[in-house]
Amino acid sequence: MALRGILSKLKTGLKKTHDRITDPLVRLVTGRRVDQDALDELEATFLLADMGVETTDRLLGVIRETYNEEGRVEMTRLVERLEAELVGELSEDASPLNVAPQPPTVILVVGVNGTGKTTTIAKLGKMMVDDGKRVLFAACDTFRAAAIEQLAIWADRVGADLVKHQHGADPAAVAFDAAEAGLARGTDSVMIDTAGRLHTKVNLMEEIKKIQRTLAKKIADAPHETLLVLDATTGQNALQQARLFNDALGLTGLVLTKLDGTAKGGIVVSIQREFHIPVKFIGVGEGFDDLQRFVPAEFARALLE
Ligand code: GDP
Repeated sequence: MALRGILSKLKTGLKKTHDRITDPLVRLVTGRRVDQDALDELEATFLLADMGVETTDRLLGVIRETYNEEGRVEMTRLVERLEAELVGELSEDASPLNVAPQPPTVILVVGVNGTGKTTTIAKLGKMMVDDGKRVLFAACDTFRAAAIEQLAIWADRVGADLVKHQHGADPAAVAFDAAEAGLARGTDSVMIDTAGRLHTKVNLMEEIKKIQRTLAKKIADAPHETLLVLDATTGQNALQQARLFNDALGLTGLVLTKLDGTAKGGIVVSIQREFHIPVKFIGVGEGFDDLQRFVPAEFARALLE
């Protein structure tokens, strides 16, 4: 998709958070005064958007400074400075997916059920297939028969290969077969879907760790990515999940889905700030094009302009 299309999708997807933040900013600029009431309103706004306490303080600092230095402030000028601050809080550039020195690159996708793991695999797989790559999906959520079926449907639609076993099979055995098939077929990327039943979290983490160990036996350095998919609409829960999965598995990247469904899109900023794990993709809708690489400068623009 052309850059303009991507940016407009991003803007539409982030509209709820955008409106939450910019409405009080417009009121501030038109009111032409930064008094305590105006600052209190903005503080509440940034916190409600899940920006986190530190980022909120820094953004308020920018607003105060801008008024002190410049007196009467234009909206464009204020937004420019806030964007620069936000980008500084994140990192300048997008974090690309890790790539194995020799194919296949193995991408392990983890997360609680319903966060968007399977659709993220489908969307990422489609991006790679469109890019001329050969992709293989591995159905390691053997706990739910429906999950295997779902991934099979996606593999078919996307044009990816599929490795699956019976419902109830050992997930690590599926991962092992997928790694072997990936090597034998000269696949560029092996994407591994996992279970996400959090009520048995100890077992789940042990199961995924076993998958990680099994992959490494077959392919050195695999998995090259352990990506955690988080539902952005779940706010503080998403932060807890990030902590839990990172402690157990050592995450290499985050995917935040469903940003289109929330006015709390600032979670992207607070989560990256807290865990220092790069957000690699964000989901702003259900379509294939709605999973986008996370580019901090574009994100800040879509949020504030
Ligand atoms: P899993 O259980 O983690 O594998 O979750 P699924 O991949 O089955 O996704 C659960 C639901 O979330 C599906 O209906 C998806 O279409 C939906 N979903 C995933 N990502 C997004 C997104 O970025 N925006 C919206 N609105 N829905 C999404």
